[in-house]
Amino acid sequence: MAGSFPCPSIRVRTSRSGGQASGRASTVGFVDLELKTCVSCGRTIEWRKKWERNWDEVRYCSDLCRKRKIRPIDRELEAAIQGLLEQRGNGKTICPSEAAQVVGGTKSEAAWRNLMEPARMAARRLVASGDVEMTQQGRVVDPSTAKGPIRIRRIS
Ligand SMILES: [Zn+2]
Repeated sequence: MAGSFPCPSIRVRTSRSGGQASGRASTVGFVDLELKTCVSCGRTIEWRKKWERNWDEVRYCSDLCRKRKIRPIDRELEAAIQGLLEQRGNGKTICPSEAAQVVGGTKSEAAWRNLMEPARMAARRLVASGDVEMTQQGRVVDPSTAKGPIRIRRIS
């Protein structure tokens, strides 16, 4: 795995109020927005009115994510996910708990269980960078909304 992938940037049209676009070309008050991904949790950031003026600078989806930012352990989890996928080979999936165990160790259950959510966050960031996809029962799911156990697969 050499180099990094650019963030997918998709142009969408959305109304300033965040409501449904009418689709009529004559309608005024539409802005072109870039879909953003939270640099901490990897979820899609929904445009909000309060960000009207500084949308370009928005990097985190929430205060919680802004406080957390990215820690060294988060990078370790990303590397662990990549490493496990590399070992397993093409088309194979891993569970975020495996990455949590690589980084946290298995001496105590708490050591890796505490890393479960950070491991899912790391997986979402890797989805955003185009390295992996998240699946449930073999189907690709949206990392921002997926609930319950997920698996991680390399994009082949
Ligand atoms: Zn976030």
